Amino acid sequence: MKYLIANWKMSIYNAQIDQFFKDFKRSQFPLNITYGVSVPSVYLQKTALTLKKNGWLAGGQNVAFAESGAYTGENSAKMLKEVGADFCLVGHSERRTYFNEDNQTINKKINRLLNNDIKPLLCIGETLQEYENKQTKKVLLKQLKECLCDIKDVSNIIIAYEPVWAIGTGKTASVKDIKTNIQYIKQVLQKKFGKTVPVLYGGSVKPGMSADIFKIDCVDGALVGGASLNCADFLGIAKDM
Ligand code: PEP
Repeated sequence: MKYLIANWKMSIYNAQIDQFFKDFKRSQFPLNITYGVSVPSVYLQKTALTLKKNGWLAGGQNVAFAESGAYTGENSAKMLKEVGADFCLVGHSERRTYFNEDNQTINKKINRLLNNDIKPLLCIGETLQEYENKQTKKVLLKQLKECLCDIKDVSNIIIAYEPVWAIGTGKTASVKDIKTNIQYIKQVLQKKFGKTVPVLYGGSVKPGMSADIFKIDCVDGALVGGASLNCADFLGIAKDM
């Protein structure tokens, strides 16, 4: 089963969400793909209803590291669950960069999500400097080890390999690099947990060019930001799968 997951970031308002679903009604999305949308939390409840009616998964974009209490401005995993979250992004590079999230915080968030029966979609990937210094595997290994340090069972986790330099830049990693790095992630998981999990690619995926990525046998789908805001583009990517 392939996954196609949208990340609407902080780039969509009520009017665009309504337009997306209006276009969605007229669209024929290919079957046998698991679809999901990561929605800003203020819109999650209303959006989750429509998504679930159509068999799509509803997702959060962030979760508090704590279970509950005096954390002004945060949303707990239990709150996300109550408004319909099936999954939640964690470790996205924008959270690491702008909100200083480190692997230890991300590990706490993964635990909160699993305890509340929400699938974590863990994003990992190297910066441009790390890529140029040929440190990608080292970075991926550290992120996997630290983010999943006390996790006993990875069955409910999904991973997205997202080179930081490819997110929102229009630059995509090469087929060779995507293959090498996703294979490596799967090897690490197999060694540590005795099993692997779905691993998606993310980073400027667009309709038309995405077919080459989906031909790579170890790629289990895509996490899509910019091109997921428009239903026709998202459909174009689904058709490439
Ligand atoms: C993302 O937000 O995870 C992402 C991959 O964004 P974009 O597709 O815009 O690069």
